[in-house]
Amino acid sequence: MAMKSKVLIVGGTGYLGKRLVKASLAQGHETYVLHREEIGVDIEKVQMLLSFKQQGAHLVTGSLNDHQSLVKVVKLIDVVICAISGVHIRSHQILLQLKLVDAIKEAGNVKRFLPSEFGTDPARMENAMEPGRVTFDDKMVVRSAIEEAGIPFTYISANCFAGYFLGGLCQPGFILPSREQVRLLGDGNQKAIYVDEDDIATYSIKTIDDPRTLNKTVYIRPPQNILSQREVVQIWEKLIGKELLKSFISEQEFLAIMKEQDYAEQVGLTHYYHVCYEGCLANFEIGDGAEEASKLYPEVKYTTVEEYMTRYL
Ligand code: NDP
Repeated sequence: MAMKSKVLIVGGTGYLGKRLVKASLAQGHETYVLHREEIGVDIEKVQMLLSFKQQGAHLVTGSLNDHQSLVKVVKLIDVVICAISGVHIRSHQILLQLKLVDAIKEAGNVKRFLPSEFGTDPARMENAMEPGRVTFDDKMVVRSAIEEAGIPFTYISANCFAGYFLGGLCQPGFILPSREQVRLLGDGNQKAIYVDEDDIATYSIKTIDDPRTLNKTVYIRPPQNILSQREVVQIWEKLIGKELLKSFISEQEFLAIMKEQDYAEQVGLTHYYHVCYEGCLANFEIGDGAEEASKLYPEVKYTTVEEYMTRYL
């Protein structure tokens, strides 16, 4: 059997990154996690890095601001996965990856790079609205740099992180489901796709040594998790044994409210708009030159929406 690639995770202390570290170790990869000197005395992050070490990961020191330190780290491994921040209400550092691309290019040994994507496919969002389009535009800038440098890649389009979307019954600004009421976006009938963040990590790690995913986009579309907001609400209602009081927010109202928010909020709301009013995640067929994760890896028992939502009971 072929040797499993050695993996470097950048952004391993993040919301998705820590799951990528766990999945990489679980799938038997020698796993390196970048320890950025800049995190200084952030005790939570240092403790998390130490817990990765206890689980068998190697901590390697380097900085996105120090090219040679990055090149040295990249030379140790075969695959780089970056999960740097890209949600404006938390932090958005997508373009910092250009420094990582430079280091990977110089090191010359990397067999696969998975940049920080894990959401809506930015290549399909050329008509996205301001200001949220910045997320897709920046991710496309990184893609161009990867492809110009000739670095082998896989782009993971993970659709909706379950924690954000299911937790809030698809309502922006909520991450815990109400037992009383819900606001449906439009008629609540646009389909979206929800994926447990741990499953996103599991599928992502599966792709790295798979020749079928080389230089391709991999969409994660667990078939049972392609549901409208109404269907998500119905699942929650079944779990709590009670119907929620429903109100509706029209497209015009949503856009008007959006314009009154600050920049970071507007970016997030733009994304909800494209997902929940336009159905941008599920309104296309996966064409040639791309793959779907649950078809490639039927052995993964993914978490269904109903299973995920039981955690809120
Ligand atoms: P986080 O906000 O949790 O941050 C991830 C990492 O970014 C941190 O561990 C941190 O590393 C690193 N980071 C932050 N600032 C800097 C900096 N200045 N220099 C270097 N590293 C930095 O990220 P998420 O897990 O929320 O997001 C990861 C990806 O997932 C993004 O591409 C995002 O767009 C996407 N996403 C998709 C969602 C969806 O629903 N589809 C929802 C949420 C995110 P360190 O510890 O070293 O500081």
